[in-house]
Amino acid sequence: MNENEKYLVVLGAGESGVGTAILAQKQGYRVFVSDYGSISDKYKDVLNQYKIDWEEKQHSIDKILTADEIMKSPGIPDKAPIVKQIKEKGIHIASEIEFAKRYTNAKMICITGSNGKTTTTLLTYDILQRAGLNVGLGGNVGKSFAWQVATCDFDYYVLELSSFQLDNMYDFKADVAILMNVTPDHLDRYEYKFENYLNSKFRILQNMDMSGYFIYCDDDPATLEKMATLRLETNWIPFSIEHNVERGADLTDNGQTFNIHLNNNSDFTMSINDLSLSGKHNTYNSMAAAVAANVLNIRKETIRECLTSFKGVEHRLEPVLKVHQIEFINDSKATNVNSAWYALDSMRKPTIWIVGGTDKGNDYSTLIPLVKQKVKAIICLGVDNSKIHAAFDGIVDNIIDTQSMEHAVKSAYYMGSDGDVVLLSPCCASFDLFDNYEDRGRQFKAAVRNL
Ligand code: ADP
Repeated sequence: MNENEKYLVVLGAGESGVGTAILAQKQGYRVFVSDYGSISDKYKDVLNQYKIDWEEKQHSIDKILTADEIMKSPGIPDKAPIVKQIKEKGIHIASEIEFAKRYTNAKMICITGSNGKTTTTLLTYDILQRAGLNVGLGGNVGKSFAWQVATCDFDYYVLELSSFQLDNMYDFKADVAILMNVTPDHLDRYEYKFENYLNSKFRILQNMDMSGYFIYCDDDPATLEKMATLRLETNWIPFSIEHNVERGADLTDNGQTFNIHLNNNSDFTMSINDLSLSGKHNTYNSMAAAVAANVLNIRKETIRECLTSFKGVEHRLEPVLKVHQIEFINDSKATNVNSAWYALDSMRKPTIWIVGGTDKGNDYSTLIPLVKQKVKAIICLGVDNSKIHAAFDGIVDNIIDTQSMEHAVKSAYYMGSDGDVVLLSPCCASFDLFDNYEDRGRQFKAAVRNL
């Protein structure tokens, strides 16, 4: 072992951990990867191929607590015993994004928020790519950012950042930061304090200066409240569907016209009906992506082309099939109350709502008016459905319990009639009955196709 060699321990051998290990090795670090669970064969093969030392189903304290720095996968909570020990020892913990950014000078376009991150990230990436920029896509979507820094040479990155990633970012500086909204989510990781979660989201602004742009939703009360307490030392650009803005994005003509007030004063205008992504929430997503593209000086024609032709993202209000005039929609990614709110809000037909899973401290009361107006039956799909019953018993006549996707979909189908829609928008995480939200969405689609 070389005395001057820095030693990085990576906790968690998923996409971000394995990518970081590869980058660190390339940068001359000695690397050890430790995962308390089992590591998938795919990642074991990669680690072996790079001759990176790893362990699974355990944490070898002696090998971990001698690290110069630790990269922690965002999925590992601070209350995990190993993290407590690392903190007691005073070893610096970085996220993948923090670590990898040290080794690239590319421009960073970063997107966070409680909802809309993936859609906005993919739309922004699509615009930049179609504009011909040499751009990578990373963070919570696609290939690991660190792996791309190790093996590609991009000039721009569009990164989707979760609050967990932001929590271990310190020196990172975004060039363009987008904050979609902040509504209660993941409170179990934030001592059930919304304030802590909000602060975590606002870390996206850290280190920014007048060379950067902060794009935010001017209709989001939590964002505005927090901004009022800050001295923003960057260019800030709002988007709103509720009122007009001088610079940024808004709607006119009773919500029929979508406008971006551009840097160079030549406004960009299109009909709301030409946006390929429909629903209020997607109007916000389109606005944020279009403003980001504009500050990067991308041509209006390219922005327009992308906004009109962008295909939605799987598991986000994804139309699946019509079976005997009953429409099935897969919104498995709606894992919190706010996202389910937008899903229900965009329903135009009597709705049979499949909801439930691992509750993250949800307050369902904000959904009650929409549920009263639109939902004809609720199908609970979870191991423990008591909170859903507590919230909606007496509000919706028909509420049944199911514990498998097949049962839920069949029940919905039997309860439905011509012109109804069956919406899977679970409001909850998926881990009680499914591997993850993708698994849940795929099982939904398979069950619908089997009807
Ligand atoms: P995230 O990556 O933040 O989870 P997604 O783009 O994957 O966001 O969308 C997740 C769910 O949230 C979708 O299924 C949709 O119902 C809802 N959603 C999408 N965009 C927004 C938004 N801007 N505001 C509120 N809800 C949204």
